[in-house]
Amino acid sequence: MPPSQPIKAARGVRDVMPTERAVWEIAETAAREVARAYGYQEIQTPQIELAALIERGVGQDTDAGGKELYRLVKRGSEELVLRPEATAGVVRAYFQHGLNQGPQPARLFTMGAMFRYNAPQLGRYRQFHQLDVEAIGDASPAYDVECIEIALRWMGALGLRGLRLELNSIGDRKCRPAYIDKLVAYYRPLKDKLHPDCQRRLETNPLRLLDCKEEQCAPFKAGAPRITDNLCEECAAAFAAVKAMLDAAGFEYVLNPYLVRGLDYYTRTVFEILHEALGGAQNSLGGGGRYDGLAAEIGYGDTPAVGFAAGFERVVMMMAEEGEEVIPPPAALVLVVPDGPLFKEAAEVGRLARTTVPTAVDYSSRSLKAKMRAANRLGPRWVAILNADEAERRVVQLKEMAGGGQREVGWDELPALLEAELTG
Ligand code: AMP
Repeated sequence: MPPSQPIKAARGVRDVMPTERAVWEIAETAAREVARAYGYQEIQTPQIELAALIERGVGQDTDAGGKELYRLVKRGSEELVLRPEATAGVVRAYFQHGLNQGPQPARLFTMGAMFRYNAPQLGRYRQFHQLDVEAIGDASPAYDVECIEIALRWMGALGLRGLRLELNSIGDRKCRPAYIDKLVAYYRPLKDKLHPDCQRRLETNPLRLLDCKEEQCAPFKAGAPRITDNLCEECAAAFAAVKAMLDAAGFEYVLNPYLVRGLDYYTRTVFEILHEALGGAQNSLGGGGRYDGLAAEIGYGDTPAVGFAAGFERVVMMMAEEGEEVIPPPAALVLVVPDGPLFKEAAEVGRLARTTVPTAVDYSSRSLKAKMRAANRLGPRWVAILNADEAERRVVQLKEMAGGGQREVGWDELPALLEAELTG
């Protein structure tokens, strides 16, 4: 039975159609080039992972690892989820395949789909795509800066301007607990005046009080103790080193004492790259930081690491807005148009032409006139027309669509001629 309604895509997902796909390809190619230029290698991890990895590696208290997590219907004994981010999977793979035994840090990048069951809106989807870059196995703050630099270089290479780098340090296991005590002591007497979410955060995750966006809590933020005034010696030195390296390289940044990550395993550097033209709450193109405690959280030895993730949907959106204009190439440069059912012959011409330029063949049963109209809409640079007589003589009429000129060309001459025209 046919369905009563035409079936559309699921809510919160989007199709990337060929015209836009050309822009994505530019973004992907630039990501690979920039990451490789810094010595990062591509890795691909599965989109499904054991629930335990994500629950512990992303945290059940976070949106991405908690209420937004897509859980698969259980088959057999494994509890599986769709990954909401890539870091936990990349770190798992680093240990599982012995990269921890190799040269450190392992410099890795990956690109792919992530899944979060969140409320869809412009710039926020349930399936979205990230570039994810990780340097695993070394604690030097220089790697923090390297990650920031890769993110900025990538976005810059795509023509994005108006980027704002925000930076903070959230300390580590040594200094953060004492800071959190101070923060709680500051907010406790204000509890009744806080938004209900923040009343809860005060008990469960006080650090998150700092990135609360509720107006009702805003007046209290300025008076809150700052973590950067409460760093231990090592964290303060690392933060100073990050800033000094950014300064030396001429990267501008804004210190944002309210930029935090809600999970214990995050340490020291956190950063975010925002775009002034990206509207509303979804103005972040990417973010990252150091997560020295993650490896232990998922059952491996203590291992320092830093990385970032940036969203393709938002980056591509900004490219369209202010990057250079992308004119997508036509589907094919040559269209072979047989006059009549000359399938074998047209296929052979296609095979020959395709050795040098992208070539499509019109196998339809339309009239020649209708095929030429279709060719006009498709927009190839040339059409190669052949009728039965021409097929017999192994020639085509090669017509340049824009110029209108037409000449007879032997099938075997076609590849070299097309190549010469294209490069000449
Ligand atoms: P996060 O992993 O939450 O730190 O996000 C890093 C980047 O991924 C963000 O700055 C966005 O560019 C992108 N991103 C995160 N969530 C979504 C989403 N639901 N839809 C589209 N892009 C997203």
